[in-house]
Amino acid sequence: MAQHLRDNAVGRSVVRVDVASMSVLKTASPPWTELHGRTVTGAARHGKYLDLDCDGLHLVCHLARAGWLRWSDKLSPAPPKPGRGPIALRVHLGGVGFDLTEAGTQKKLAVWVVADPAEVPGIAKLGPDALELDADGLAAILSGRTERIKTLLTDQSALAGIGNAYSDEILHAAKLSPFATSGKLDADAVARLHESTQEILKDAVQRSLGQDAARLKAEKRSGLRVHARTGLPCPVCGDLVREVSYADRSMQYCPTCQTGGKPLADRRFSRLLK
Ligand SMILES: [Zn+2]
Repeated sequence: MAQHLRDNAVGRSVVRVDVASMSVLKTASPPWTELHGRTVTGAARHGKYLDLDCDGLHLVCHLARAGWLRWSDKLSPAPPKPGRGPIALRVHLGGVGFDLTEAGTQKKLAVWVVADPAEVPGIAKLGPDALELDADGLAAILSGRTERIKTLLTDQSALAGIGNAYSDEILHAAKLSPFATSGKLDADAVARLHESTQEILKDAVQRSLGQDAARLKAEKRSGLRVHARTGLPCPVCGDLVREVSYADRSMQYCPTCQTGGKPLADRRFSRLLK
């Protein structure tokens, strides 16, 4: 997405920003209208945050789980209707532009207007970027940690950039149980985890580059081996992909590839049964 914005938004002028859902806006000062008339000078990614640099004033967004950026080469000049439909924010860049959308009822998409991206609390707390870590760097992060590896991989303050979907994919490729204790992985497991992280993330970025931003979500889905594939065969071994639910989300894994053939206890259900 950052690449798409660098290729398509940089050099254009922000004609107008429509905020259809005030609750997405996490900053009040400077007002978002300060973006009007500014030239887009860059676009970057910080962990899972997207940063549109409008000549020194940054429009930063976190899409959360159900949010998306929908680029349009023929953006409607009309403002989206507040409180109706999935569009939270529309950025007009002179004929073209994009919508930030969010599906579902859980509204987590967030937008900040800041002079420095580090003013966004989540960005200030980010750990090193997962794509830039070498094997020793990853080993140092895991060392002594008692969390389950699934939890640590998605903790943005430990390492940045990996979400629910790609952590499932990385653990599957590394043949590791999502419930393994982070600090207890042996050197071989850490090496596999490092290799899989690089492979899965680089492959995902590569497949997405040059894709129309409107089609990125479909592209992401099509490349997944276990995530969101409960009950379907594992493309590596043919075993059926299983699911564990916890809190308000779920993860998927292959028992044969990752847990010695044993299904993991669904903690939410085991707690209910006690
Ligand atoms: Zn498998």
